[in-house]
Amino acid sequence: REREAWEARFEPARTRDGHRVEVAANLGNTAHAADAVSRGAEGVGLLRTEFLFMAHAEAPDLDTQMAEYREALDALDGRPLVARTLDVGGDKPLPYWPVPQEDNPFLGLRGIRLALTRPGVLATQLEALLRAAVGRPLRIMLPMVKDVAELRTARAMLDRLLAEVPEHERTTDVQLGVMIEVPSSALLASSLAVEADFFSVGTNDLTQYALAIDRGHPELSAQADGLHPSVLKLIEMTVEAAHAQGKWVGVCGELASDAAAVPVLVGLGVDELSVSARQVPMVKARLREFDLADARDQARRALTRATADEVRDALEET
Ligand code: PEP
Ligand code: MG
Repeated sequence: REREAWEARFEPARTRDGHRVEVAANLGNTAHAADAVSRGAEGVGLLRTEFLFMAHAEAPDLDTQMAEYREALDALDGRPLVARTLDVGGDKPLPYWPVPQEDNPFLGLRGIRLALTRPGVLATQLEALLRAAVGRPLRIMLPMVKDVAELRTARAMLDRLLAEVPEHERTTDVQLGVMIEVPSSALLASSLAVEADFFSVGTNDLTQYALAIDRGHPELSAQADGLHPSVLKLIEMTVEAAHAQGKWVGVCGELASDAAAVPVLVGLGVDELSVSARQVPMVKARLREFDLADARDQARRALTRATADEVRDALEET
């Protein structure tokens, strides 16, 4: 089976009845983009740009960032790149960007909230992405958005840059999306979907915040299961709201590569799965094993269960 999956890695993934789902790769390092393509990734669904910021003693300047982003874009050769803006704070502190001591860093200055405290750094990052992607598609995604206010602030910054940077020096194919990883953003997905170009569900943080379980907790993290029905309901709301506005939805958390979860996510209407590069062939192979109607059944069944274990048991029965 593994060999079969490997041999078919460059084929697009379709369910048995032909429903297409895109499979992209999560990257922490732009130098790994070529490897992801060689494993069959149809794009990068999540570039964790914070690793670029962590690798330097101070925030990398415009040229340094452009060179890095270009490396990934060159390897992708026209395939889409979803670049997440700097997501630090919480579990990912930046030495040169000290945050006041917090009792609850996961509930503190992190993600877009932190980035908006230094708009100059965020603006430089957006400009580097726009310039690096000249002639190619670019998807920019904001982490830890809780409601439309943060999206509007970032959109205004992006619009200003689009007006400032001459068209021939930057990409003209740009989408601005938000990660759905804070429960409020799933609950408010219909308002976000009007102004965001796409959503990508970060099931790692979404599960952490929905269940109030630290994702790295030594004793509790096993209970932080993305197949918990509460998380599935949040994903269902997200997809319905996005599709009602004609927007696409990806999943870029760990759940996207969980073999039991793949049909559930497809059944909920998810359009793209972004997983670690190593898992791309396996996830594509998994998608080829079921019909869309089965997947919708599985999703419906999962949503009626009361605990994550009950969901997993119900999925195994089929
Ligand atoms: C997530 O939260 O699911 C996610 C993809 O982002 P990260 O794991 O980098 O927080
Ligand atoms: Mg996250």
